[in-house]
Amino acid sequence: MAVKYVYFFGAGKTEGTAEMKNLLGGKGANLAEMTAIGLPVPAGFTLTTDLCTEFYKNDRSYPEGLEAEVEANLAQLEKAMDKKFGDSANPLLLSVRSGGRVSMPGMMDTVLNLGLNDITVQGLIDQSGDARFAYDSYRRFIQMYSNVVMGINGSVLEHLLEHMKEVRDVELDTDLTADDLKQLVDLFKGKIKETLGRDFPTDPKEQLWGAINAVFGSWMNPRAITYRKLNNIPAEWGTAVNVQAMVFGNMGNDCATGVAFTRNPSTGDNHFFGEFLLNAQGEDVVAGIRTPQPINKAGGDGSLPSLEEVMPDCYQQLMDIQQTLEKHYRDMQDIEFTIEKNKLYMLQTRGGKRTAKAAIKIAVDMVNEGLIDEKEAVLRVAPAQLDQLLHPSLDPKAVKDVIATGLPASPGAAGGEIVFSAEDAEEAKKLGLKVILVRIETSPEDIHGMHAAEGILTARGGMTSHAAVVARGMGKCCVAGCGGIKVDYAAQQFVTSSGEVFKKGDVVTLDGSTGEVMKGSVATVQPELTGDFGLLMTWVDKFRRLKVRTNADTPQDAQVARQFGAEGIGLCRTEHMFFEHDRIMAVREMILSEDVEGRKRALAKILPMQKGDFLGLFREMKGLPVTIRLLDPPLHEFLPHTDKDIEELAAVMKVQPQLLKQKADFLHEFNPMLGHRGCRLGVTFPEIYDMQVQAIMEAACELVKDEGYEIVPEIMIPLVGHVNELKLLRANAIRTVEEVMGRYGIKVEYLIGTMIELPRAALTADEIAQEAEFFSFGTNDLTQTTFGLSRDDAGKFLPYYVNREILGEDPFVVLDQEGVGQLVKIGCEKGRQTRAGIKLGICGEHGGEPNSVIFCHNTGLDYVSCSPYRVPIARLAAAHAALQEK
Ligand code: PEP
Ligand code: MG
Repeated sequence: MAVKYVYFFGAGKTEGTAEMKNLLGGKGANLAEMTAIGLPVPAGFTLTTDLCTEFYKNDRSYPEGLEAEVEANLAQLEKAMDKKFGDSANPLLLSVRSGGRVSMPGMMDTVLNLGLNDITVQGLIDQSGDARFAYDSYRRFIQMYSNVVMGINGSVLEHLLEHMKEVRDVELDTDLTADDLKQLVDLFKGKIKETLGRDFPTDPKEQLWGAINAVFGSWMNPRAITYRKLNNIPAEWGTAVNVQAMVFGNMGNDCATGVAFTRNPSTGDNHFFGEFLLNAQGEDVVAGIRTPQPINKAGGDGSLPSLEEVMPDCYQQLMDIQQTLEKHYRDMQDIEFTIEKNKLYMLQTRGGKRTAKAAIKIAVDMVNEGLIDEKEAVLRVAPAQLDQLLHPSLDPKAVKDVIATGLPASPGAAGGEIVFSAEDAEEAKKLGLKVILVRIETSPEDIHGMHAAEGILTARGGMTSHAAVVARGMGKCCVAGCGGIKVDYAAQQFVTSSGEVFKKGDVVTLDGSTGEVMKGSVATVQPELTGDFGLLMTWVDKFRRLKVRTNADTPQDAQVARQFGAEGIGLCRTEHMFFEHDRIMAVREMILSEDVEGRKRALAKILPMQKGDFLGLFREMKGLPVTIRLLDPPLHEFLPHTDKDIEELAAVMKVQPQLLKQKADFLHEFNPMLGHRGCRLGVTFPEIYDMQVQAIMEAACELVKDEGYEIVPEIMIPLVGHVNELKLLRANAIRTVEEVMGRYGIKVEYLIGTMIELPRAALTADEIAQEAEFFSFGTNDLTQTTFGLSRDDAGKFLPYYVNREILGEDPFVVLDQEGVGQLVKIGCEKGRQTRAGIKLGICGEHGGEPNSVIFCHNTGLDYVSCSPYRVPIARLAAAHAALQEK
């Protein structure tokens, strides 16, 4: 049987359903579903994402039979709308829009008013009784089509429009008359012919195929590719194309168009929330060109009349529909509607994008309302999104100098230097600067800059403007529609209503929760982790199996992590302790010593301090497991490198600078990451590890003996590649442990384990497990050594790999499951072969990255360990993994 590529919806009949998102795209599937449940949707048909795949496979052409399928659907559409495509009396006009599996706002192309030509425009005049409207629609169509389909730069025709306004001495498009617009249509066509050497197509069918090609083609435009990369959307998914009968929100003051959310997308409050424009077409609301009006009295500040007041009947109908939709989808919806001559049409519904705060509130509220259960609530919050909540907000006690106030478009607080272009934002980010991107309004071209900025400030546009929607999705704070500032790109400055000038490089702070813009940088406070968040996290903990520990080197870090729910320390990197002010000198003395005795003398100075570190950590963790890793980095990292620093140190240490320099030169390595580091230090300088083990065990014995703690210290040996290394170091460690316990006259349980961070260790994990009671996968080094990719140098070329899609993601961020992950799996299997109950964890950066956490769950690890701020993210990801498994 021939493959079906086109699915009809309209007049209460549909061929698609909400479940068919992968095939029909989100928009197409939901248009079908809304039609099926009896909502007023203009009829149309959807060309599938499979067709998009075929389109690219066949060098941008279509399978045989498609034309006939489209013809048949067009005929059905004409019947449903009781209009005819290309007719002079009663013309059907179409919109042609993209719609992938997940929404990519503004990234792909759209054509509206399709089907207009010199003949059909007469029909539109007759139907609407408004020649001005008809010619305005016609000229908009030519502008859009010639740009999107024919590839003319938008400014070419825009220029003619501006010129016409100048000649007529008017300011607004709306001041142009029907005759002016008719004349513009002819001027546009002439200009197109002159520029491209071909005519603007008058045949509606030709127009339709041109638009379909262009929309499928826009899946591969650079903007869409960038967006997919930032959001991990695979290129293979493709987009669907929705061809739908036009309805007009711009046929007069009994017409309107708007977008709304069934609940507030910023706070999650259960209030119908949205914006609309009277007498406006489709994209005008989101484009941020006119300031929209609130949909209801409650949502506005009273300065502009709401839809509730202007069109009470339509508002009531919309209110009923939004409730129907929310109950039907059991989720907050983002809807688009148009009112044509007092008749309401639904153009779209989809799960609404929301801030992390709103996501949590909505999930918890919906459980209370009986719409969803706890499991579903947990699955409704994306782990990566939690990041937004875990970062600081403005300190309520801080002194603020508010210079302007806009809309609170995306919450959180951020300060930084002002820049006025996406390019400058990106440049500054590369230099390590924090910036606030200030724009009159943003467009999809700006996303790379929005990504680089800490926060976004726009002078125009509402809560549903591009800036607001995209910032919310990115979890960046955003103040939109801040009309009080006048942005001047040429002068690289903005001026506030009081006349104060802010130039590029000046610092401002934004509060995306109140809309305030403040001068200078303002203090922030840590987030509140109680309330709905706390409740949701209790559900999370009920469903997950994987334990979540933290990587922490200080009691302070450990405390933060405990507040975030860490269940232990999975990695304490002891080298960070060596850099502390009061001990780096002793560390250097140890390194410079000529013999064992000298080193031991220096280490004896470090011992009490190191013991103090472990006492602090054990106390903070109150009996939870603590894994302490013995020294890992090459020793030269502790020595100064510049001549000036060497001289300063020599003076303090009372040695010849020459000696220091010789030692530093001696320790120099061509490839320190593969050099004298990790357990190799313990093999060649056993006294270093002896001191560390002694400090760990003395701290543990003291707390157990004197303070009644129950502690099982986990001593971890890094960078093992061969079982014999571990055999030797384990025996050394046990000797020290026994000596300390003997001295204290008690027995303390302890574990000795190793990191698996070299391919050889993973491949011989069965042998290594003979000497190890636990494995912790050091996936930072394991990624480095598996790819042969230097952790310290990859930044120079890895972005290129990711941009060119040679690698889907940076493997130091997201675990490479096929390669590095395979070694992790092998390591686990072989480890368990030798020692069935061996404890398995991961402590590389991947331990806090949601996809990698899910992998760890599926691979059967016991725990992940990550930085304190990512602990809640890992907990939630672990719950997702467990719930999705069932
Ligand atoms: C690792 O290699 O994954 C690890 C956790 O150790 P470090 O980052 O300290 O090398
Ligand atoms: Mg490592």
